[in-house]
Amino acid sequence: MNYTRREFLTLASLAPLALWPRRSTVFLPEGLQSLRGDVGFYTERGGTIGYYVTSDFLIVVDSQFPDTAEHFVQQIQSKNSRNIDILFNTHHHGDHTAGNFFLGPMSDEIVAHKDAVRLQRKRYSTGENADKQVYADTTFDEPFTVDTGSEQINARHFGPGHTGGDAIIHFEKANVVHLGDLVFNNVYPVIDVDTGEASIPGWITVLEKAVKTYPSDALFIFGHSVDDHDVTGSTAELLRMRDYLTALEEHVRKQKRAGKSVDEIVNAGFVPSFGHLKERWKGAFRHNIEATFKSIDE
Ligand SMILES: [Zn+2]
Repeated sequence: MNYTRREFLTLASLAPLALWPRRSTVFLPEGLQSLRGDVGFYTERGGTIGYYVTSDFLIVVDSQFPDTAEHFVQQIQSKNSRNIDILFNTHHHGDHTAGNFFLGPMSDEIVAHKDAVRLQRKRYSTGENADKQVYADTTFDEPFTVDTGSEQINARHFGPGHTGGDAIIHFEKANVVHLGDLVFNNVYPVIDVDTGEASIPGWITVLEKAVKTYPSDALFIFGHSVDDHDVTGSTAELLRMRDYLTALEEHVRKQKRAGKSVDEIVNAGFVPSFGHLKERWKGAFRHNIEATFKSIDE
């Protein structure tokens, strides 16, 4: 299992703001990465930030953490110093919403799926970061659309997957789709069945719907990857993620039926064909087995 020091944490620390730890050394922000048209992404710590910037508009997808959101703003302001017109949250997890604390006051509107806000309140409205929570003020259930004149943006929810309130944001003209954490590219995913209402069968369905819904030549932005550089890809990565979740569920179901315990399944080794996946944090593989074991009734 490979993971770098800054990614070393135990699953017990999947607590507010602790999902992706502070880097232990001085770092330089990775910088803005242009993709297509006026759309790009920014990685530093936590879920990938997406952005759309023109002289008239600034739209941002996800907010990482307050400190990294500030670094993002310092950089995007070199392109446009206006307020953020819309900040989308793809889901409630702290490494995608904690930066709302910094970005919220400079955003005209924060938009999320209604269940993302419900889950954010449920998970973070008590505890050490309760007073730093900033919630979306516009929620949607039916697809939410924005027309800037030069770009059409829509946010859709295809049902429970990575969490109960996932949103997928499509910049139609640029043909770029921000998937939030529906794809963990080449790393073991967070499967938040305990508090996030994640559904493995639902996640598989959502990925299949996404492949059917978006153009075959769309460019996708993923929440996490091996090293923060490999956070974009095509439908091939969506299908590989679907195949992993399918293989994981089949593998654990078979072993559970055979009377195996979580420890025995973990010790037996990788999910067949997916030994290449990396651990972004120590215990990620065990977490995948455990979460799947728990979610299988029979
Ligand atoms: Zn997440």
